[in-house]
Amino acid sequence: MIVDSVLTNAKAYLNKEIVDCNLAIENGKIFKIGKETHMPKADETINLRNLLVLPGLIDVHVHLRDEGKAYKEDFYTGTAAAAVGGITTVLDMPNNAPVTMSAETLKNRVQIAKRKALVNVGFYSEFPTNSDEVASIVAEGAVAFKLFMACQIGGLNIDDDEALQEAFRKVGELDVSVAVHAEDKAMLMDAEEKLKKTMRHDAAAFLKAHSERVELKAVERLLKISPKTNMHLHFCHITTKPGLDAVVEAKKSGRAVTCEVTPHHLLLSNKDFERYGSLLAMMPPLRSKSHIEALWKGIADGWVDVIGSDHAPHAFEEKSASSIWEVKVGVPGLETTLPLMLTMTRKNRLSLVQVVSLLSEKPAEIFNLTDRGRLEQGKKADLVAIDFNQKFTIDASKFHSKAKYSPYDGWEVQGKPVKTFVNGLLIMDEQEIVAKAGSGGIIRRDRA
Ligand SMILES: [Zn+2]
Repeated sequence: MIVDSVLTNAKAYLNKEIVDCNLAIENGKIFKIGKETHMPKADETINLRNLLVLPGLIDVHVHLRDEGKAYKEDFYTGTAAAAVGGITTVLDMPNNAPVTMSAETLKNRVQIAKRKALVNVGFYSEFPTNSDEVASIVAEGAVAFKLFMACQIGGLNIDDDEALQEAFRKVGELDVSVAVHAEDKAMLMDAEEKLKKTMRHDAAAFLKAHSERVELKAVERLLKISPKTNMHLHFCHITTKPGLDAVVEAKKSGRAVTCEVTPHHLLLSNKDFERYGSLLAMMPPLRSKSHIEALWKGIADGWVDVIGSDHAPHAFEEKSASSIWEVKVGVPGLETTLPLMLTMTRKNRLSLVQVVSLLSEKPAEIFNLTDRGRLEQGKKADLVAIDFNQKFTIDASKFHSKAKYSPYDGWEVQGKPVKTFVNGLLIMDEQEIVAKAGSGGIIRRDRA
């Protein structure tokens, strides 16, 4: 038999150990892992020259934009950024123009992504106005639902507990996960209005409005109204100690609850926000040192399930309005997450085992992407080859994302993604895209 390719001289992450080995790839999957003498003949041999090979990263929190927001990012530029960052699968958030919240809007997004994507893309949907439509959205392939509690984005009235419960029942029956942005709308709007009346338009005012209580209130409300069984609730970007504690309590009581933290909430603080201003505006916002330490402890203790980039690109002008309330929130993250987290392994904040768990294995498990997330025979050949020792400086002007700015611009990091393979195909080589638009795959829940 002649397989599609053999990758030689890999130092691959297999079952929590780094093993000198070779990987044979056939038809997009890992066909065999072993010694060079045991490899089948191949159409192509790629010598990885002792690069560290990890399962490709799975980023479950990405805003790829496109359509009405294509000036911020599109499926090509966003997935190019992912490939360069060693990320082989992304889950796309639904706050688009139009909002992904029907079978039709989802179908349309899938069609566009098919032509442009370089990595695997799966899709979240917002909840539709009529929860009877949930089933048709799932049938169209939505991987999960997203619920944004800070302001009204989808069709489901977030002020109405009964409507939320009805929607949760529907997704529970279909065994689909719900990912939530946990900030309480009423509390947030109230605080924001009061601050605006006193002419506050500064970063400190934004922090005051997006208080830790705003996060805790939303977490507690969702835990209270969601069913105790038969439903998986995933909390996106938890940022505070009380918020994380509430999630941990729910986990301890046996609830099917998981949570995410982002690199920016781990690496940047409210002081950075007040110093550098609107570029660092995020929702939820950057927090104080004690909260940051609580998140790191949550990782160390195994309570945090995933790290997601929350890649949220905007046009540069949108990040620099004079009033903080007008600034678009979020920063790009696809190209920096892996180098930053590898750098944290040098600072003993994380182990490589935790990096792989948080960025590949757990995301695959939680979102039912069962054919990915590990280097094993039979799994999809999604992998990233890394020069673990290479130091470099983050240069946002060279990003593949349309958003060419970053809070980490100029940071020295160590550990560079050198080659990214998606479904067995080399997509990125030496930080250049080497595959055609549309080489990536579409992940549909029914095929997951
Ligand atoms: Zn987001």
